Amino acid sequence: MPPYSECMSDKKVRVRFAPSPTGPLHLGGVRTALYNYLFARKHGGDFLLRIEDTDQTRYVPGAEEYIIESLKWLGIMYDEGPGKEGEFAPYRQSERKPMYRQYAEQLIESGHAYYAFDTTEELETMRVNLQKAGSSSPSYNFISRNSMKNSLTLPADEVQRRIDNGDPYVIRIKIPRNEEVHLEDLVRGVVVVNTNTLDDKVLFKSDGMPTYHLANIVDDYLMKITHVIRGEEWLPSAPTHVLLYRFLGWEADMPSFAHLPLILKPDGNGKLSKRDGDRLGFPVFPLQWTDPNSGEVSSGYRESGYFKEAVINILALLGWHPTDNQELFSLDELVEAFSLEKVSKAGAKFDFEKAKWFNREYLKSTPDKELAEAVKPYAIAGGADVSDEYLQGACRLMKERATFIKDVFEKGRYLFFAPSAYDENTLAKKWKPGTADFISQLLADLSTDEAFTGASLESRGKAWLEANKLGFGAIMPVFRVLLTGEGEGPAIFEICALLGKEEMKSRIESGLSVCKSKYE
Ligand code: GLU
Repeated sequence: MPPYSECMSDKKVRVRFAPSPTGPLHLGGVRTALYNYLFARKHGGDFLLRIEDTDQTRYVPGAEEYIIESLKWLGIMYDEGPGKEGEFAPYRQSERKPMYRQYAEQLIESGHAYYAFDTTEELETMRVNLQKAGSSSPSYNFISRNSMKNSLTLPADEVQRRIDNGDPYVIRIKIPRNEEVHLEDLVRGVVVVNTNTLDDKVLFKSDGMPTYHLANIVDDYLMKITHVIRGEEWLPSAPTHVLLYRFLGWEADMPSFAHLPLILKPDGNGKLSKRDGDRLGFPVFPLQWTDPNSGEVSSGYRESGYFKEAVINILALLGWHPTDNQELFSLDELVEAFSLEKVSKAGAKFDFEKAKWFNREYLKSTPDKELAEAVKPYAIAGGADVSDEYLQGACRLMKERATFIKDVFEKGRYLFFAPSAYDENTLAKKWKPGTADFISQLLADLSTDEAFTGASLESRGKAWLEANKLGFGAIMPVFRVLLTGEGEGPAIFEICALLGKEEMKSRIESGLSVCKSKYE
């Protein structure tokens, strides 16, 4: 654990989730948003959503809306962001475009950045030459920049002429040679990087757009961000960010960093990808996503019948561990228990079976009335015409047997429709001479029950079995198949009570007439 605390200063905590709208939000991104949210709530701070859309070539229509809808579905509500403009608006970087140039120019004036005019071909030649010379990761850096076309190598008047001429250029950060950059990461402890391993990243392009690195630092500073909580894939960029804070004179306001561990695939090593989800049959996105170019549809947790609470719970525990072994947490409990100090450095393996377990737990604990509301769309789409009260009854019977919301309807279809086929295995094994008679007698006896509740039918049914010296396994399995078509399911007398007397009678009678000749 790092030797320092996650929240030492008395500044109001302000954190941000800063996705680029380049596609649907992956589970890893949702977890980043969640941890930011939990951290903000825990410390009484603000949680911002900032859309980092400076790279227009990677912009995907619909991605921003998707991100916002995902956060809304999960209840990860932001205090400031698109549609919730606060003091620091706008929250979309493309709308902040005019703000960035001055900082790129400030860096040039102070000698920490420079203009570079190299063409794509020239950059490619540089790479090839460096590779030939034995470099494994050729880059534009403190050595190679000296032989390229930039304001460090060209005379000042030529630089000016090129700019006035409208020649395309970029502005690059001038990484100092052989210095150690220290970074205190709240998850990883002290990280030290030698600047010789860094490249002169592009900060600004001649189209007037900053790149991610510049826009991100400028906005974090202007928006008074105190903690940068983001995925581990951004750790290699962090030393450059630390240098930018220093070069811009903002070191005193530099946020604390916390780089979250990767979410790993369930089997083998490596980051969890959409391909793993497709291969193993689970969603890696919160909501269903239709790719606007290919039309390809990727499944989502919401559409697959997950509770948002379960998804939150699953994600919270992917990389963070509570002090005790508690596994089920409400959002409020997570806010209470969460701390960056308990986030692990090691990648967290995604466990799909566990994800289903969480959903089952949530499903079981959801009140019937609420569950019925969630099941209703599936029931309607499936053509079931039942009252709310009936649906609640069906939920009560099926909730122990369902993993997903839609299972209540799909696995419990016989609660909504009379069977059209009968489980042959059970019938072949259990139907004995005389079974049909016994079933008719039992049906007649049950039909006299006034209360017609699960309990009253059960005591009546059991008394009848006893009086006829029959064990439960003698005819009840056949009774169940005639009633539901299936060999197993929830308590049989509860099913009778839910279906009601008339439906029970008509199902058993038509089941008997269909099956009797075949089995007796
Ligand atoms: N725009 C970056 C992303 O897409 C933000 C990284 C950060 O949080 O600094 O993840």
